Amino acid sequence: MQLQFHDSARREKVSFTPIDPDHIRLYVCGPTVYDLAHLGNARPVVVFDVLARLLRREFPAVTYVRNITDVDDKINARARERGEPIAAITARTIADFHADMAALNCEPPDVEPRATASIPEMTEIIERLIAGGHAYEADGHVLFSVASYPEYGRLSGRTPDELLAGARVEVAPYKRDPGDFVLWKPSDEETPGWDSPWGRGRPGWHIECSAMAWRNLGEEIDIHGGGADLIFPHHENEVAQSCCAFPGTRFAHLWMHNGMLLVNGEKMSKSLGNFLTVRDILARGPWAGEAFRLLLLRTHYRSALDYTAERLEEARAELDDHYALLVRDLPVPEEGDATVADMVAWALEPLADDLNTPLVIARLRDLRALENVMQVGGSMTAVLSRADRGWNPRPGQAGAALRIAARAVGLLPSDPQAWRQGTTAGGAGDEAEIEAAIQARLAARAARDWAEADRIRADLAARGILLEDGKGTTTWRRA
Ligand SMILES: [Zn+2]
Repeated sequence: MQLQFHDSARREKVSFTPIDPDHIRLYVCGPTVYDLAHLGNARPVVVFDVLARLLRREFPAVTYVRNITDVDDKINARARERGEPIAAITARTIADFHADMAALNCEPPDVEPRATASIPEMTEIIERLIAGGHAYEADGHVLFSVASYPEYGRLSGRTPDELLAGARVEVAPYKRDPGDFVLWKPSDEETPGWDSPWGRGRPGWHIECSAMAWRNLGEEIDIHGGGADLIFPHHENEVAQSCCAFPGTRFAHLWMHNGMLLVNGEKMSKSLGNFLTVRDILARGPWAGEAFRLLLLRTHYRSALDYTAERLEEARAELDDHYALLVRDLPVPEEGDATVADMVAWALEPLADDLNTPLVIARLRDLRALENVMQVGGSMTAVLSRADRGWNPRPGQAGAALRIAARAVGLLPSDPQAWRQGTTAGGAGDEAEIEAAIQARLAARAARDWAEADRIRADLAARGILLEDGKGTTTWRRA
């Protein structure tokens, strides 16, 4: 299958031509770990998870690298605010990030390098840049000289004047040009720092990604991904650093960027009160992670996406419909059934056209409609004409294809029975029963029947319902 992706650098859809068809190298900018992931952080993780799954199906080997930025002034500031050690903040945030992304059914990347483990590579790149006349030392800092790289601005498509006008450039007396950016900066006693040829200091953010991409993937990579908000300055600066440190190389051959995420039509911000973390979504119930993933994939990755609670409910209703079909005792097609394989190929085919997930989702709906007709009767003319593949389906084939194709994009991983018991509309559906069990336990305690009270607690715990006793009341939560 020939893949086509929109390349941000060329500003058009291009055929994907791997550097080495036997080994695809993908790099995506990961989180700066000082706080819980918000909805905007989750979007690239889900988008590039779908891309990595596609590449793995199409090519014999893929190395997907997504870094963790664990040295950054935002982390230092948070540690000072909270009076908490930096290592504690980063360790907790990384664990939370992993849990949240797993709840969105994202597979982990192959390599997840931490910036603090790549300091030697950063200093080596900086030394190469200084030696090549692309960087200079000034006042304890090392700066990249944008004037030394005529291609600067090409990725973002901005001229040097536009770059300065549009960006909040930090003015500093030691800069030769206001557009020059920091590669290395000095650290005081209280700030993390590493010994370097330029004194004790720490890296700038941009050099971290150039170093981690180089260390884990080499001088050139097939696809570099991230949010569109990273194109300038972060990705522009990565290109400048990597191409100047390794003359004659191109760094990333293709750049893919996801669009922004809005909440209720507005940019998410704490001051507007529409700031939502992934945790806020997951708290809505055991169904919410998968529903949020479907919500994200219903919009093309390059478009702006507006999150609303209604759209989350719509996604959940769509999953309810899929699971309502899959919970039935469908006939199981034989292994290697050619029609099932063709149905799966048809459903996933739009991914080859710049990850057209909305069309994939529509085709999953068509497969469901086809299987429903096989089960309860009706007309399948519309779906068959849309697919136009000459199918003459037998019961079970479209249902099996739905399951296989959905899983290829990280959807419908749940056991259908468990989904339906745990996630019927209005909550998990068993709240009244749990409340009744809690009342029975309180009654047993009042009667000093400790064995019975403990039995009820253990029964609930076995179902993932955890009790918390307060003053005269008992609350519960799902594990
Ligand atoms: Zn990066």
